[in-house]
Amino acid sequence: MNSESDYRAYFLGPKSENQAWVRAEFQSILGHWFRWRKELFPSDAPAISKKDRTSPSFLIAREKMAQGLEELTNLLTAEIPKFTPRYIGHMVSELALPALMGHFAMLLHNPNNTSQEASTIGSRIEVDVIAMLAKMLGFDPEIATGHITGGGTVANFEAVWRARFRQDHWLSLTLYLAENLGVRLDLFDGAHMGWKRFSELLDLYKVPIDDLRGYSAVAGNPHDFAERISKALGIKYRGPILLVPENKHFSWSKATNIFGFGEQAFWPIPLDATGKSDVAELQKLIEKAKDEHRPISMVVSVAGTTETGEIDPIDQTQGILNAALARERIDIWHHIDAAYGGFMCSMLRGNHPNVLNVGNKAALSAIAQAHSVTIDPHKLGYVPYACGAIITRDDQTYSVSGFKAPYLERQLGVPDRWSTTLEGSRSAAGAAATWLTGKTLGFDSEGIGRVIADTILAARKFKKDIGETLPFVHFLAPSETNILCFSICEHGWSLNKANNITQKMFERFEKCPEFSLSLTTLSIEAHNNMITQHVAGFSGQLDSDKLVLLRCVFMNPFWQDPDISEKLTHEISEKMSSWFKELL
Ligand SMILES: *Cc1c(COP(=O)(O)O)cnc(C)c1O
Repeated sequence: MNSESDYRAYFLGPKSENQAWVRAEFQSILGHWFRWRKELFPSDAPAISKKDRTSPSFLIAREKMAQGLEELTNLLTAEIPKFTPRYIGHMVSELALPALMGHFAMLLHNPNNTSQEASTIGSRIEVDVIAMLAKMLGFDPEIATGHITGGGTVANFEAVWRARFRQDHWLSLTLYLAENLGVRLDLFDGAHMGWKRFSELLDLYKVPIDDLRGYSAVAGNPHDFAERISKALGIKYRGPILLVPENKHFSWSKATNIFGFGEQAFWPIPLDATGKSDVAELQKLIEKAKDEHRPISMVVSVAGTTETGEIDPIDQTQGILNAALARERIDIWHHIDAAYGGFMCSMLRGNHPNVLNVGNKAALSAIAQAHSVTIDPHKLGYVPYACGAIITRDDQTYSVSGFKAPYLERQLGVPDRWSTTLEGSRSAAGAAATWLTGKTLGFDSEGIGRVIADTILAARKFKKDIGETLPFVHFLAPSETNILCFSICEHGWSLNKANNITQKMFERFEKCPEFSLSLTTLSIEAHNNMITQHVAGFSGQLDSDKLVLLRCVFMNPFWQDPDISEKLTHEISEKMSSWFKELL
């Protein structure tokens, strides 16, 4: 490691190695907080006197708090130790120090980012941090916008909310023209007309935009809308759909429920043998939606799937959507669920050869062309919970409220968020944590990009070492990022038997305090190609409808240390070796 920019200073260390100066920094945060109160309003008298502070009842209360706190801290010693490189279970690990410090400093001030009245500095920091994330993703930070959310689930909902609102404008105008003027657009064309054509049609037919309210499925009644548009266009209208890859996070099923689409509106994009969304299948689904008069609310691509960390061919999907726009003026919303993988964009503009392959580089580079992106600083940003973000490429894409042509006005200065966020009151702590991490460690290839590049290299090394020593470990291909999944089985075993032994191996890990791994199950229904290929890899028989896998997430920033990785890989290998013998 290049000692001039050693990122290990940005973490406390598994043995609290950096404790002395971390203690000093936390004391300095407290010092500022105390001083701020003391120096503000100098004419105000203290409210708690020395006499108060020494009274018996006061001392009893203090003792009670001390005991309560001791109980809490004692309880916490049994919490899962996610800081150690022995933890490779889920998408969480050692936190970055600037993130902890920023979070703590902001927490003490407790601003509410719902509006500037409740948060002056917090709101400004949020605008700054969104620009930093947008820049990392490849957007123009002057134009892109967004906000911090409670996590990736809410950020995905934020995108659905916006995409539905946008399309609802176009559908309202389609209904208006048909009912009032006998102008019958094709439903699919109308539903994807784009803002430019929307403006042109408003002008051409002199439609007062506020009148569209009476034609809206969202502002009015979706059932009435369906009846009226079916009648006006002579079709059977059955509502919009969402095209989401089969490898989707379950937040997408929740979204179809919450937004009232119904689960049948969820059209999965089949996956190819590498577990990524198959663009040829996507093209077919778009045609099918067109034939069946189903507006496409959005197409989703995933950057860093929750199960296996793979990145969808975002560039190819965007290519299909760009072509539809250029050829047929079909404007379809593209959302990137980069909750996990968004921070991998930090490696794009820098020197990390052989870390990302050509396909993944192209995919991540195309994020900047999408309409909206979900990114979770509380995953690969090494920031404490709860901190996700929704980012849109511009204000027009971000606006959600009313028919007042918000898409024409660029908001100046720092906006109040309450009307454009699904959540109401929002902490500024996540924004501060991410902000300080971006300012110090940095979201570029030399900062967090080096941390993530090393985690990918660590995963690759682990795969190679374990692959060479344990013949019964079969890794799921392609494993291109820092998540590895594998089956435990011998050559020629049936899938059923492999699943059984893999499950039992996981149970051994669960009982073993030294390591945390996770278990994941892929269904044949969603991952047919991938599972078939995996089972062929050990010449097995496909006699189960699922694949059970052990899963390791190599997020910990200390796995790059050869001494640490060698020791831990050896220990894991020894354990699995002896357990395997016992399980047979
Ligand atoms: C984690 C994750 C989510 C959900 O994010 P939360 O922060 O847990 O709400 C959504 N999509 C993907 C791909 C994820 O990895």
